[in-house]
Amino acid sequence: MSQKQTLSFQAEVAQLLHLVTHSLYSNKEIFLRELVSNASDACDKLRFEALDNSALYEDSPNLEVRVSFDKEARTLTIADNGIGLSQQEAIDNLGTIAKSGTREFMNRLSGDQKADAQLIGQFGVGFYSGFIVADKITVESRRAGLKPEEGVRWVSGGAGDFEVEAITRPQRGTSVTLHLRDDALDYLSTWKLKSIIGKYSDHISLPILMQKEEWKEGVEGQPGEHVLTDEWEAVNKATALWSRPKKDITPEQYKEFYKTVSHDFDDPLAWSHNRVEGSTEYTQLLYVPARAPFDLWNRDKAAGVKLYVKRVFIMDDAEALLPSYLRFVKGVIDSADLPLNVSRELLQESRDVKAIREGNTRRVLGMLEDLAKAEKEEGASEEDKGKYAKFWAEFGAVLKEGLGEDFGNRERIAKLLRFASTQSDTPAVSLADYKARMKEGQEAIYYITADTQAAAAHSPQLEVFRKKGLEVLFMTDRVDEWALNYLQEFEGTPLQSVARGQVDLGKLQDEAEKKAVEEAAETFKPVLARLKEALKGKAEDVRVTTRLVDSPACLVAPEGGMSLQLARMLKQAGQ
Ligand code: ADP
Ligand code: MG
Repeated sequence: MSQKQTLSFQAEVAQLLHLVTHSLYSNKEIFLRELVSNASDACDKLRFEALDNSALYEDSPNLEVRVSFDKEARTLTIADNGIGLSQQEAIDNLGTIAKSGTREFMNRLSGDQKADAQLIGQFGVGFYSGFIVADKITVESRRAGLKPEEGVRWVSGGAGDFEVEAITRPQRGTSVTLHLRDDALDYLSTWKLKSIIGKYSDHISLPILMQKEEWKEGVEGQPGEHVLTDEWEAVNKATALWSRPKKDITPEQYKEFYKTVSHDFDDPLAWSHNRVEGSTEYTQLLYVPARAPFDLWNRDKAAGVKLYVKRVFIMDDAEALLPSYLRFVKGVIDSADLPLNVSRELLQESRDVKAIREGNTRRVLGMLEDLAKAEKEEGASEEDKGKYAKFWAEFGAVLKEGLGEDFGNRERIAKLLRFASTQSDTPAVSLADYKARMKEGQEAIYYITADTQAAAAHSPQLEVFRKKGLEVLFMTDRVDEWALNYLQEFEGTPLQSVARGQVDLGKLQDEAEKKAVEEAAETFKPVLARLKEALKGKAEDVRVTTRLVDSPACLVAPEGGMSLQLARMLKQAGQ
């Protein structure tokens, strides 16, 4: 006799379920995408575990997902022959929230029902989205490798708790049965289900099977109807999207695929899909998102590229496939060369991976260059023109890390940089734009570092530059100071901080001014000496300067010394 156990959901799950079931949702149908994607993940996991233990396939080596419904019982079932769940796994995985996507969703909740309901529609909340259309869900499962008697049944009405009991289940894998709510009975239709699967799950690489329908004439004056047959047919293309020729893939399909790999609900800004041939062969499908995730600043966070080897899923978040400064990129790499049993450690050392990483880096920089080019392209749509600025606002500060991290591509990265300046309130000035506007005789690219753009713009150190009409770039990202150590010049022109040492305006300084300074220095010698004495230990030197126009005095950092901004940052950090 099996014993039934009633267990409570983790508090967050209960909260989430409450929201799912009490909201009006604009996009109910996403539940099917979530459940099919779980089924597909489960098959991926089985295939992966079976690499070492082919007995796990038992007698059903063809992995597949079956979607079926029962009009009388008002149920819809999504079944797979993937890895399955043990009883403990069912309790753990279906009773708590472990995955980061759902966590993020929870963090973004505003408390405003309408807004939150929309968020659900766009986000998807995994398994629990089944409760959007069902008032009860029954999961039956057996983990691959366990005995038939070690199956599990999990049942919940989506309120505070769920029941589990042991069952006997000869077939491996999981079936999820939704007991549909009264307002969700329209999902009991082959046509409807097929169209949703086509929309969201066409790129899934397993066959998604449904029972074929047949038209049956009505007898004795009864109307005819569609009836289900025992024959199953695939209703998706069942080939991984990235393995199809580009020309057969629509932009909508690319976008939909992006949403599944990224857990993002916005469209991507750009993507690039290529089959790379040569000594290392692989397919890359890489996306630049439109929006930064909340944990972008965590450099240890999972990267967004999935690794496949010959269509077999190997791992999520393969950080070895891209340098850290491109960690915002999402997508898929499918290698033809790597061994199936490759581990994270092995990845770090593999020469093939190094080649893939370099290829990916080039490709992403290329995508960014294309976006940047569209900014100024005649005939480009307004949307395309705005894309690079959008990218820069979200990810610019991360890209700058590349200056210190990727010496080989430093020049390409430098060209992608954008800054606000004394001539642009928005970060729209590239170093090339700056150079094109340089004054006759100007020998350096001038910049100022500050905490904020306002602080930079009001700095007394800018006075003389303003007077002479010289543009000064504002460096206001935290990473700027560090990154600029790695960028001393741009296409032959040095970068120079206006807050450091003597500002040498070179040929821009006229003779009369130079003379005036020398004379003033002479006249004020006693004053300077006394000031120096008074500021002993606080200032290294006191000088007469031409850099000020209206302000009486300003602080500057010594040449080659630590900049004021950096000194301030270190002080803040308690150093
Ligand atoms: P995610 O898929 O992002 O991990 P879900 O809420 O969709 O989150 O699913 C939660 C967990 O439940 C999965 O990680 C998996 O462990 C388990 N699970 C869900 N569906 C299945 C299934 N069909 N087969 C095996 N395990 C499943
Ligand atoms: Mg899922």
